[in-house]
Amino acid sequence: MMLLDIFDPKAKPRPIGIDLGTTNSLVAYVRDGRPETIADCDGSALVPSIVHYARNGAVIVGDRAKRLAEAHPQETLVSVKRFLGRGADDPETRQLGPYAFLPREAEGPDVVRFSVHGKAITPVEASAEILRNLKELAEEELHSVGGAVITVPAYFDDGQRQATKDAAKLAGLRVLRLVNEPTAAALAYGLDAKRDGLFAVYDFGGGTFDVTVLVLDDGVFQVKSTGGDSALGGDDMDRLLADELATAFGLTEEVRKKPAVVRVLLDLARATKHRLTDAETVTVPNPFVDAPASAATVTRDRFDVLVKPLLERTGKACRRAVRDAGVEVAELDGVILVGGSTRVPYVRTYVEALFGQAPLGDIDPDQVVALGAALQAHQLEGEGEKEEILLLDVLPLSLGIEVGGGVVDKILPRNTTIPTASKSVYTTQEDGQTGFVLHVVQGEREIASDCRSLATFTLAGIPPMAAGMARLEVTFRVDVDGLLTVEAREQTTGKVQHVDVKPSYGLDDETVEKMLLDALDHGEADLQLRRLLENRVEAGRLAKATQKAIVVDVDLLEAGEKETIEAALTALIASAAGEDAAKIKFRMDELDAATKGFAAARMNRAIATAIAGKDVGSIEATVEAALGIEEAHARHGAR
Ligand code: ADP
Ligand code: MG
Repeated sequence: MMLLDIFDPKAKPRPIGIDLGTTNSLVAYVRDGRPETIADCDGSALVPSIVHYARNGAVIVGDRAKRLAEAHPQETLVSVKRFLGRGADDPETRQLGPYAFLPREAEGPDVVRFSVHGKAITPVEASAEILRNLKELAEEELHSVGGAVITVPAYFDDGQRQATKDAAKLAGLRVLRLVNEPTAAALAYGLDAKRDGLFAVYDFGGGTFDVTVLVLDDGVFQVKSTGGDSALGGDDMDRLLADELATAFGLTEEVRKKPAVVRVLLDLARATKHRLTDAETVTVPNPFVDAPASAATVTRDRFDVLVKPLLERTGKACRRAVRDAGVEVAELDGVILVGGSTRVPYVRTYVEALFGQAPLGDIDPDQVVALGAALQAHQLEGEGEKEEILLLDVLPLSLGIEVGGGVVDKILPRNTTIPTASKSVYTTQEDGQTGFVLHVVQGEREIASDCRSLATFTLAGIPPMAAGMARLEVTFRVDVDGLLTVEAREQTTGKVQHVDVKPSYGLDDETVEKMLLDALDHGEADLQLRRLLENRVEAGRLAKATQKAIVVDVDLLEAGEKETIEAALTALIASAAGEDAAKIKFRMDELDAATKGFAAARMNRAIATAIAGKDVGSIEATVEAALGIEEAHARHGAR
């Protein structure tokens, strides 16, 4: 706490970017157009993601907490990120660390809870302590902190993202957006300034390895695939090197297993590893009194041999991620290095050989994610220069309207970059229909009732026309803020109706994710149902048009033709009452075949009548009406 802190009380709050890491966390902001991390009083920007709960109720975060971890393992939460968004019964999390957990609550949300000094602590609360610490660090530097962009791994599911947001809220931060870590790294490298490209982000941290393949298309980053190993990181290098040192010191098997010895060895190993990043050879004095050797010497070559198997595991994950993205290694436009472990020179050599190109690594790999987050926060708070504004937003869910049979016609598919607009034309389903009911829906499901209903409005006052004659043009426009405007225009009368809809607000990420998952779950069943409903609508239209035609133009029917058509009609109507989409389709084709000659005769008459002294507009209308039977197949009908 500073006693003398002179600053402008009207100073504008500054947006910040936060990398909430498994091992280390950082906060950054944009100063004079450039992102930079904020260091603590020791000059270090890396805050170990460790939270210690003291008996007196004090909560200690970062380096000081790290020093307390050994003496108070159960009261010091390390790598909290691994527990975020996990369920209470998750067997995997319970094995992570020496913690005491509380049993699952009979009621209330299903989350892991640590038991510390008999008190329940959730991972969200522990993460909030880290975030609060970073916020305070930023406040000391900037005095007033605005909104925050927080990064999360690309593979984080909705529960984990929601947990991250909750933690931020608890820490008193206003979250501008969660951004994927690899995307943030790409932003730090200014890749958004290039138009398009395919990138791999190789993130080798303390305890995790993540690889992400993403495409940058028109200012939008889209994750193509993710992969990695949640139990592979710099810590594994430390363990291998600790073993090497123990052998060189001549420690017996028994001694090197003692917890205190293990800890000293690991600390020595980490320090040695860091020194080997700059030096070819490192000599480590032996701190153990009763060991034979006075020192151990480790060369970089030897270290490379030790860590090679770890790198091969990252290589395997990378090849799989590239394959999952459906691309070839040679197609990648760039490889970005992220994470402290990519400082190791051999990692860089390995990555270069793996991808066949030198990786981008000139931004500090520890900081690159936080720097990118800061840039994004700066943009979102409107502080960036106008022409630099990133179009990172895409529609989270598809937008469409309900058409005949309750089926959804998607006008703007999900992942469309906003702002955007798209148009579709529909026609009437009934003869003499004087209005349209437009039902705007959002979601991935094929059936309107399974999607989220956004708005319903009516376009009335259309003069009665034959089915299929009215032309309704529907335009969907989504502006930069995600605001949807729908405009419906009846082309023959020029009647217009429009409505503003807010699609994304009120839908939290969780709901969005759930809707996507539902669509995936139901994909096949939905499609079948959609096909059935669509075929029913088409069958109804075809049947109606045919029934009308055989009455109006009865004189054009040849002997026996009426019976054949009626038989096909009856079969079609029966099939439409059933559940078999393919059968309906088959019966429609049958009716089509049965009416072929009749339709041709009607068409000839229509043309002859039209030519006999009518205006062009009504010629078109008559011909279209005559064509009605065949065309019925190709049309959607708005309700
Ligand atoms: P995370 O993303 O998991 O929070 P970091 O990206 O902060 O992790 O990486 C931490 C890891 O980086 C640790 O294993 C640390 O030892 C390692 N590391 C940091 N600096 C160096 C260096 N100079 N040489 C080798 N490894 C380093
Ligand atoms: Mg990281």
